[in-house]
Amino acid sequence: GAARGTRRVTVLGSTGSVGDSTLDLIGRNRDAYRVVALTAFRNVEKLIAQALDLRPELAVIGDPDLHDRLAEGLRGSGVRSEAGASALIAAAAEPADLVVAGIVGAAGLAPTMEAVRNGRAVALANKECLVCAGPLMTALAAERGAALLPVDSEHNAIFQVFDHERPENVERIVLTASGGPFRRCSLAEMRDVTVEQAVNHPVWSMGDKISIDSATMMNKGLELIEAHCLFPVAQDRIEVLIHPQSIVHSMVAYRDGSVLAQLGTPDMRTPIAFALAWPERMAAPVAPLDLARIGSLTFEPADEARFPALRLAREAMAAGGTAPTILNAANEVAVAAFLARRIGFLDIAAIVEETLQRAETDAAGSLEEVWAVDRRARTLATQAMLVREDSRAG
Ligand code: NAD
Ligand code: MG
Repeated sequence: GAARGTRRVTVLGSTGSVGDSTLDLIGRNRDAYRVVALTAFRNVEKLIAQALDLRPELAVIGDPDLHDRLAEGLRGSGVRSEAGASALIAAAAEPADLVVAGIVGAAGLAPTMEAVRNGRAVALANKECLVCAGPLMTALAAERGAALLPVDSEHNAIFQVFDHERPENVERIVLTASGGPFRRCSLAEMRDVTVEQAVNHPVWSMGDKISIDSATMMNKGLELIEAHCLFPVAQDRIEVLIHPQSIVHSMVAYRDGSVLAQLGTPDMRTPIAFALAWPERMAAPVAPLDLARIGSLTFEPADEARFPALRLAREAMAAGGTAPTILNAANEVAVAAFLARRIGFLDIAAIVEETLQRAETDAAGSLEEVWAVDRRARTLATQAMLVREDSRAG
């Protein structure tokens, strides 16, 4: 049986970059953490290896065609196996002290919502959930008493230095951004960049989708919306600041002029450890921050002319309603097309802009309405993508 004080944790998206970092921490602290469920989309061999190592109660693979292989790989282990979209949602509802939302994209929305609906504390990496359905998710979390613990390093930093009791004293939030691999590039230089150049982030090693988002700076745009969902601060008081070293993970400015920041070596295991142990702290195997060796921290303004995704995200946030849902869906379609080498790098923001112009923005309603808006935006974005693909081929 589990030792007293053991925390029961489910990891959604366990085979990804955030999943890897989470399981690394849990694997080093097997007395303190028990894994309830692990989920993955298609990487069945990795899921089997993780499950044989950590012995969760349940392992779920999203792709139903891979269920036989999962069951075979787990035979005799005592780990139950399931497959398919509804099994992913059911995994999120299993009794647990914490659910790590580490799926990428709006695909994570239904399971993450299910964790919130069941009142679970959620370690939220999957920022697209909040961009797609932020008001629904935060309202449900408040109603069900589910703590939303941000894992995204910037939001985790803000969470740590934000005066949650007296938010009226907060004057500004400053989101720091590394600037990505093309921080110094002109638009002309960005036109022909390759997938390899774009996924090669100067500081962080992450999944493909967020790496491309960092290169376009849509990631920081999504994070603006994420910050606005998580913290009671007006839109025009959330700023973006380029900080290439990624040591200052973000800042909160108070009305007396005090600016509080959280610093650390750029390693996702710090914010993940914060969420795993909250409200306690746990040891994380992260290189100590050595500022004397780093020497200097630099800062520069963000450039919305070269990084139009930032402007589009801010406009979508200001428009409100379903505009962020459309922004996110179009971006997912465009990033997938870029990764598949069907469009150029600058086409990503262009497709998002065109989709936002063509889709009608509405008030955000139920989750069903969010799905309908998401589907419609994906159709429009795909049309915009195909035109660009053709003009490239021709
Ligand atoms: P990743 O691509 O490395 O992993 C994604 C995980 O989600 C995998 O386990 C995959 O199997 C699963 N998945 C993908 N599509 C799915 C689907 N349709 N249904 C069910 N499961 C699916 O991504 P990542 O880099 O770990 O990022 C995960 C999330 O965390 C993203 O929202 C990202 O923006 C956010 N995030 C990541 C980092 C990072 O350092 N990687 C930092 C901050 C925020
Ligand atoms: Mg981030």
